[in-house]
Amino acid sequence: MTINWQAEAEKYQDDLLKDLFGLLKINSERDVEHKTADAPLGPGPADALKAMLALGDRDGFKTLNVDNVAGRIEYGDGDEIFGLFGHMDVVPAGPGWTTDPYDPVIKDGKLYARGSSDDKGPSIAAYYALRLIKDLKLPVNKKIHFIIGTDEESEWVGINRYLEVEPAPDFGFSPDAEFPIINGEKGIATFKVVFKPIAAKPASLTLRSFDAGIRVNMVPQDATAVIEGTLTADLKDALASFGPANGVQVETEDTPNGLKITLTGKGAHAQEPKAGVNAATYLATLLAPFEFDPAGQRYLSAIANLMHDDSRGHKLGINYTDKVMGDLTASADMLTFSQDGEQSIAINVRYPQGTDADAIRDQIETAVGADDADVVIPGHAQTPHYVAGDDPLVKTLMAVYEKQTGNKGHEQVIGGGTYGRIIERGVAFGAQMPDQENVMHQANEYMPVADIIKAVAIYAEAISELAK
Ligand code: ZN
Ligand code: ZN
Repeated sequence: MTINWQAEAEKYQDDLLKDLFGLLKINSERDVEHKTADAPLGPGPADALKAMLALGDRDGFKTLNVDNVAGRIEYGDGDEIFGLFGHMDVVPAGPGWTTDPYDPVIKDGKLYARGSSDDKGPSIAAYYALRLIKDLKLPVNKKIHFIIGTDEESEWVGINRYLEVEPAPDFGFSPDAEFPIINGEKGIATFKVVFKPIAAKPASLTLRSFDAGIRVNMVPQDATAVIEGTLTADLKDALASFGPANGVQVETEDTPNGLKITLTGKGAHAQEPKAGVNAATYLATLLAPFEFDPAGQRYLSAIANLMHDDSRGHKLGINYTDKVMGDLTASADMLTFSQDGEQSIAINVRYPQGTDADAIRDQIETAVGADDADVVIPGHAQTPHYVAGDDPLVKTLMAVYEKQTGNKGHEQVIGGGTYGRIIERGVAFGAQMPDQENVMHQANEYMPVADIIKAVAIYAEAISELAK
């Protein structure tokens, strides 16, 4: 039987949009302040999960709710389990929307709402692909588990709970990224350099404080330092000329504690530090040439000499490139210094296969100086994940993508983390098209309706090929 996947998918457009609107109207941001026993991540994620599972019940699928933090819609039978991994939680709407983020609207063929492209739109596309397979009674000889998480944007509480109590699929994909495919994800770890106390000594300048960064996975946009002491003409010159010379903004303000210097760069996701302008390393570079107290001098010099303008970690000596997975990236993202308190730098590193978190930790400690600082890994490191390009999973997904879009497929490795990494033979597949701008996590997030329907067609053929 030859199936016109696109034509079959289009038949579902009205039903799909109605269901998707229902999901998008639920504000499913993580909200643990309002958690209850029935909604451990807050009411929104649990409500969105229940709404998704209710669609499965309505359409005659078997469903499972795991403690209101994860769930499953299943179809078919067989020895192997084929998995699909989506999520119903969203990142906070944030400012800057021209429409209500939780009142979806379609303008010029684009569906605007928080979660439209990440990940309710792609998830509903995967769900309708399953429905299409069921309605057409296509042959299936595996168990298909569509697994739904509710904490993908934060701690992965839902999916981790699911994997504790339910079997992991043998292979599968997550509709939570982009086409053609993401078959590799770098390892992710944050290394915290914690400086040891050092004997004080009089100096012309004292670094009172240094602060930058709001999250370990973001390049800091702003950095501030408070300095005390005699401002030489050289320093005054530097404060005036550094900004224009480096394309950053430098502002100063007299405060009771000293001169407060604020430097503004450009924030970015830490998976590609080059996309940002790290305010902290620029500010340290501005100040380090001047004579500070020993602790302040050591702190500023470490940043300026080992972390500035070096997204690949060459100065720290942790640079590493894998032929397939690409470069290690390093980004100093959370920095805090006070004379009597913590003096630390958290460096977010994304690393390919061939190196590991312990080796990176050791090398950072060597570079900074073991006498001066300890380097610790708070939390756990995520190891690199790669499914070979000649794996039948990757080959099949790529072939379906190429056939349906007419575009040439290619392997992609990213520095981010998706549910694709939770099983050994897991990848991310769609639903963002290559020519489409990435608006995930942004204000005015949208997904073209035509791309959602196209994803249904691609997913249906892919699932049917992989599960037959
Ligand atoms: Zn997502
Ligand atoms: Zn996301």
